[in-house]
Amino acid sequence: MSGTFVGMPAFPKAAHEAVHDTTLRGNLRHATHTIRGKRAKAVAEVSDWAELREAGKRIKDHTLRHLDRYLVQLEESVTAAGGTVHWAADADEANRIVADLVKATGESEVVKVKSMATQEIGLNEALEAEGIRAYETDLAELIVQLGRDRPSHILVPAIHRNRGEIRDIFRKEMSEWGRPAPDGLTDTPAELAEAARLHLREKFLRAKVGISGANFMVAETGTLVVVESEGNGRMCLTLPETLISVVGIEKIVPTWRDLEVFLQTLPRSSTAERMNPYTSMWTGTTDGDGPRTFHLVLLDNGRTDTLADEVGRQALRCIRCSACLNVCPVYERAGGHAYGSVYPGPIGAILSPQLRGVSSEIDASLPYASSLCGACYEVCPVAIDIPEVLVHLRERVVEGGQVTSNGNKVVLKPAKGHAAERAAMRATRWAFSHPGALRTGQRLASRTRRLHPRTLPGPGKAWSETRDLPTVPAEPFRDWWQRTQGGKDGAK
Ligand code: SF4
Repeated sequence: MSGTFVGMPAFPKAAHEAVHDTTLRGNLRHATHTIRGKRAKAVAEVSDWAELREAGKRIKDHTLRHLDRYLVQLEESVTAAGGTVHWAADADEANRIVADLVKATGESEVVKVKSMATQEIGLNEALEAEGIRAYETDLAELIVQLGRDRPSHILVPAIHRNRGEIRDIFRKEMSEWGRPAPDGLTDTPAELAEAARLHLREKFLRAKVGISGANFMVAETGTLVVVESEGNGRMCLTLPETLISVVGIEKIVPTWRDLEVFLQTLPRSSTAERMNPYTSMWTGTTDGDGPRTFHLVLLDNGRTDTLADEVGRQALRCIRCSACLNVCPVYERAGGHAYGSVYPGPIGAILSPQLRGVSSEIDASLPYASSLCGACYEVCPVAIDIPEVLVHLRERVVEGGQVTSNGNKVVLKPAKGHAAERAAMRATRWAFSHPGALRTGQRLASRTRRLHPRTLPGPGKAWSETRDLPTVPAEPFRDWWQRTQGGKDGAK
């Protein structure tokens, strides 16, 4: 069973620990810089990238505006194609539905395609509690599961591990989950991949139930789409007799024509490929081809609350490409675990506090996990203005939670230190509205500047530890202006 994010400390504390881990920082720096360089090249090949990006944004906005209509259309299409649709308001309901469906088959193990939605709801842990073992089959997810670890990247969940660490995990843990690692396993990529292939193959051939997410759902035909690079996903989607897909309600697109846009932008933004090596699509069930039973669990879990927020709702456009993580200077140094959620990086900083909608230290700290440099917005293939949403959420945090939706108050507790920030702002306002006092204060600050400490005491200590305090000039600007410009052109 993988570790969970329950009880994670607030971002600054978790990040503080991560930045001192030199191995982690080395692994992350190498991986993110390699991916970001490749992505830039893949995007530059497309002459109409800006138009595709705009089209993706508009399609998602249109779909979200009419989500109720498209969801009903999707349900009708899936049902007509032989599938069964279930609606889950939250994680508990979704987990209960899936556990009951698996139990109804009489099976006690399932194979899983990499799926963020099932991680979001803690499905593996819920199934374990019901005596059902879930096997992750995506290579990176397998590494995370065997290492009893947590994912730290959307696309490459084990990005924080290097090859030596992966070899050690395989050697130590594979035997407990099934076929052991081959004797003398080294850390060469080919040997590691072969060990994983052999380990997983027996599970694919045995499993009667598969569980997946989906990258997209096409409302007009009820078709689900999974894109991936390894082919393990396709085995999960086609070999079992029963397939259960758990998908967030925002993953819907109205038509195949809309899908075409994202099948161009997603692979270039995520793996820097022109198209995904494996694009699996299925519509309900087909006699003699693939699973005989198909269930679709449509997951809300905070999405309609997010939709009610006019600024924050753009986070629901996300197609989980991870481009924003790979360019983020904060993610590169802090790593994915510091975000306390399956959604790390810039998108996690705006999505988790909205989806979870609860008062917690970690959620209140996430909107501050950014320098607002805007690199995430620049690369986002659906033009989510992440800095705008971060600032918006900071307002909510400082105000102690003001946003209501569906009659529910969404409360974010102000993080420690915000009381001091408010006091500082009040003092500044008083000084700016009393020019005489401001001038006296500035002169005093200039005269005593050699005595100023380089770090602040008390609540300001943490803030000044990571920043250079500005040097106070020998002469205040107003005095300099008066001395050099006084009397000229009406200067006072
Ligand atoms: S926010 Fe944009 S860049 Fe980040 S994962 Fe989502 S779609 Fe990709």
